[in-house]
Amino acid sequence: MGTYSPKIEWAEKWLKDTKSLYIGGKWVDGSGDVLDSVNPATGKVIGHLRCANESDVDRAVDAARKAFDEGPWTSTISHKECGVIMRKLSALIREHVEELATLETMDNGKTFPESCEDVVNVADFFDYYSGWCDKYYGEVNPVMGNFFSYTVREPVGVCGQIIPWNYPMDMAGYKLAPALAMRNVVVIKPSSFTSFSLVRLFEIFHESGLLPEGVINLIVGRGSIGTFITRHPRVDKVAFTGSTAVGRKLVHDSADSNLKTISLELGGKSPNIIFADAPDMDWAIERSFVAMFYGKGEKCSEPTRLLIQKPVYEKVLAGMAERYKTWKVGDPFDPTSNQGAQVSKEHFESIMRYIEIGKAEGGRLVCGGDRNVEGSNADGYFINPTIFADCNNQMRIAREEIFGPVLTVIPFETEEEAIRIANDSPYGLAAGFWTNDVARTQRMSKALQAGQIFINKYGCYEHTSPFGGYKQSGWGMECGNLSLDLYTKRKSIWYAY
Ligand code: NAP
Ligand code: MG
Repeated sequence: MGTYSPKIEWAEKWLKDTKSLYIGGKWVDGSGDVLDSVNPATGKVIGHLRCANESDVDRAVDAARKAFDEGPWTSTISHKECGVIMRKLSALIREHVEELATLETMDNGKTFPESCEDVVNVADFFDYYSGWCDKYYGEVNPVMGNFFSYTVREPVGVCGQIIPWNYPMDMAGYKLAPALAMRNVVVIKPSSFTSFSLVRLFEIFHESGLLPEGVINLIVGRGSIGTFITRHPRVDKVAFTGSTAVGRKLVHDSADSNLKTISLELGGKSPNIIFADAPDMDWAIERSFVAMFYGKGEKCSEPTRLLIQKPVYEKVLAGMAERYKTWKVGDPFDPTSNQGAQVSKEHFESIMRYIEIGKAEGGRLVCGGDRNVEGSNADGYFINPTIFADCNNQMRIAREEIFGPVLTVIPFETEEEAIRIANDSPYGLAAGFWTNDVARTQRMSKALQAGQIFINKYGCYEHTSPFGGYKQSGWGMECGNLSLDLYTKRKSIWYAY
């Protein structure tokens, strides 16, 4: 990845105008109320959003419907041209990494290098799916008799996409790129806590003139506005990333409206299991710490339950406590900061409540457990990396998703016990373990109920490798060729000759 510098002056100027909706190829004022957006590192309002109401969602769906049913996107633009457009969009994203990442850091509180990485990921998604534009099609089916039977793949249609605040850019890439490559049209809603980067991305796409009108539409507003997308009778599909509670509601919305298809990427409480025979214990400790606290703990697949085998239990905890001393929580634009600010006051308060719950439940504090108010941090929502040792899997801090820098540590003796604890969760997003025993890697990979298994390095992600959850962590997998299934439907055709 290149070297990037923040564009704060540019961002402050850009943020002066109230941002609004993008419908049918035009910027339009939302008919709802005006919402402030806050920089969680300073506690200050940085800009405003004019939110959508139900009739704006209707207009956006109508524009998308028209583009899908009548526009050039699905009729005259060839697969090759579609691929070329996607690659040009990718190049534009790469040209604007600094702008997009600056807005992301100001709005979300994550460190600037993290934001840059997220924006580059979006460009990678567009490049990757551009290659699929003309390479995903049907099959000839082997049938008996005088028939020619074949299967074609068609776009799903109008896709609602609802994304969370923790990876606003990255999640937009996950969803927009495969949807467009498979010739769908989109109505997307970012989180009201972090809408600016996507507004800017849409400006860049608009200025490029590359996409026909109505192909991409942007709705801004609070969570409740998402309901009008998920219940809309002319939306064909909704792709959602967010909490399990809202995901559950979406399923009801679909059932109560037109049974639209739903894909869900939801919450997690992922186990990370360190066996005494880990091949390199220092690396296991380093990576377990960083995977947990990088991104300020606001990651769905982070390893929030650390299971340590008893012979190395105190050694690992001592290593984590040592790592804590060199970990810097602070200004997300300061290149020496490792961890920025939690996304919002509400979320910060929720994490602090969980820290109190952990103390009351009898967790032993190894480090952190408090707000960080050093220097300029006092005005923002910073929390020190918090590690609770000597926990058990029945505690609330072991069962509920905290979504902040709070790690729950549980000791274990045998492999069977580790598997039992790891799987004793309503979630099944990811799981990791560290061992030098080849037979154990196979037993564990089979036994763990999770969509991602990380052996000897927790947390590996690539746009080429499918990502998704077991159990209440979601339905369906995104990335790689699996997103193509999410954004196409199959039609089987018989011709009697
Ligand atoms: P959330 O409250 O479920 O919100 C996610 C998105 O849904 C936001 O855009 C939100 O808007 C919107 N929303 C809220 N209520 C809605 C409703 N009734 N109908 C339709 N849309 C609605 O989740 P979050 O707190 O923002 O994000 C954190 C959660 O996302 C965690 O549980 C995390 O594990 C999960 N996550 C999962 C993955 C994955 O790939 N599995 C990745 C990232 C995050 P507002 O924000 O404006 O309210
Ligand atoms: Mg914000």
